[in-house]
Amino acid sequence: MARRKKIYEGKAKTLYEGPEPGTIVQYFKDDATAFNAEKKDVIEGKGVLNNLLSEYFMLGLGQVGVPTHFLKRLNMREQLVRSCEIVPLEVIVRNYAAGTMSKRLGIAEGTQLPRPIVEYCYKDDSLGDPLVTEEHIAAFGWASQQDMDDILSLALRVNDFLSGIMYGVGIKLIDFKIEIGRIYDGDFQRLVVADEISPDSCRLWDIKTEQKLDKDVFRRDLGSLTDAYSEVARRLGLMPNNPASITKPTLIN
Ligand code: 5GP
Repeated sequence: MARRKKIYEGKAKTLYEGPEPGTIVQYFKDDATAFNAEKKDVIEGKGVLNNLLSEYFMLGLGQVGVPTHFLKRLNMREQLVRSCEIVPLEVIVRNYAAGTMSKRLGIAEGTQLPRPIVEYCYKDDSLGDPLVTEEHIAAFGWASQQDMDDILSLALRVNDFLSGIMYGVGIKLIDFKIEIGRIYDGDFQRLVVADEISPDSCRLWDIKTEQKLDKDVFRRDLGSLTDAYSEVARRLGLMPNNPASITKPTLIN
């Protein structure tokens, strides 16, 4: 088989040219990084879990009419997605204060916000993805006013969808980050949810115990990241509740 052409290698994923024009294969690695790659590790199984979870969220979004780049999962580590031009912004939605918002504004982590707050960061690792305003975005031409209206509406729809899904399995969606892609159909441009949606890019807390079930487990050395992500997958019905109950393959005579 011919070797696939690598298009891009990021911190958690590698992108390869897809089988059809306009498609890309997204490979989920086990690498975990935090604090702009100052902290690094390889967490066995993380890629498989994120591939499954991202598929689940992207398919669900598609079913409620939110356009995404997702086409299909190919295997345990790879999914086929539509190739798109990534808007150079990290779109963050926050329902409860945590992370950089808590630091910046001195609000205790876990404080419910008066309403969901959407923030934008300029995607540039060498600058540490700085927070920017719509003024910067318009002035530097990263997105048009029409794009920003569509991005805000997409971000809030993703928030309602994800919050509801997570609430149903006893998890509070504290905040999350999405990326937006442009897909061109001739002269016409559409914005879609791209990249991934997984516990790498969300903060997820158990509603009752406030146990963290997301990448903060790695960032803050709070235990096993795969146990946390597996718990999310298990509650969503993506993993067997009792792995011991799975019977071994039996030889048929
Ligand atoms: P914070 O700004 O508090 O660090 O992050 C807010 C939310 O966005 C968190 O859910 C965090 O996981 C996500 N987030 C922010 N920056 C990144 C990033 O560069 N990569 C990923 N995967 N998630 C991010």
